[in-house]
Amino acid sequence: MSDSLLVNEIFLSLQGESSHAGFPTVFIRLAGCNLRCNYCDTAYAWEEGERMSMEQVIEKVGSYRCKRVEITGGEPMKQENTVPLSKKLLDKNYHVMLETNGTVELTGLPDGIIKVVDIKCPESGSGETFLESNLDALNKDDEIKFVVSSKSDFKWALEMMQEHNLPDCCTVNMSPVTNILDPQILTQWILESGHDLRLNLQIHQFLHIP
Ligand code: SF4
Repeated sequence: MSDSLLVNEIFLSLQGESSHAGFPTVFIRLAGCNLRCNYCDTAYAWEEGERMSMEQVIEKVGSYRCKRVEITGGEPMKQENTVPLSKKLLDKNYHVMLETNGTVELTGLPDGIIKVVDIKCPESGSGETFLESNLDALNKDDEIKFVVSSKSDFKWALEMMQEHNLPDCCTVNMSPVTNILDPQILTQWILESGHDLRLNLQIHQFLHIP
């Protein structure tokens, strides 16, 4: 098996989302995605990428003075070498996060990877794609994210959350779709819900950085 990956970009920025927001992070954006969400802000990664060996990827990551890495996409779990890459990064003492759309089996990932798992709401255009068996792979350090377009998406997310006791499992993030849902309205819904939900804003957008 070749050890290469199709890489869209590798860059240093601030983590913009999740409870790790604000920390310097090296992003490895892998190319290719099996979904086509209507609010996608990384459509440029659906196809385009450069083939790099694992050694080249790790060398590039090592060129930054930063021990936090996020593997993202596209959908990183669609590439067979994502799991081996995550293991190598952990072995090199990186703090490794993986952002995934939740449609691909996560059980092969090593302990120690922090998983940020999207559960696609109906109005994303990619509803009913979440693999519920992935909930068994989550632990307290992992995070779930619902990207919400409307009140009906929010209600759907609450039902999903209650059905599976998600806050008992890990942090649950609620993100408003940019330019579609006012974050202040989502804040109000969160406060009214009585649930322990985290408002997840993309701080890189405020800073106008990648
Ligand atoms: S899963 Fe992520 S990368 Fe894929 S289409 Fe949806 S938002 Fe875009």
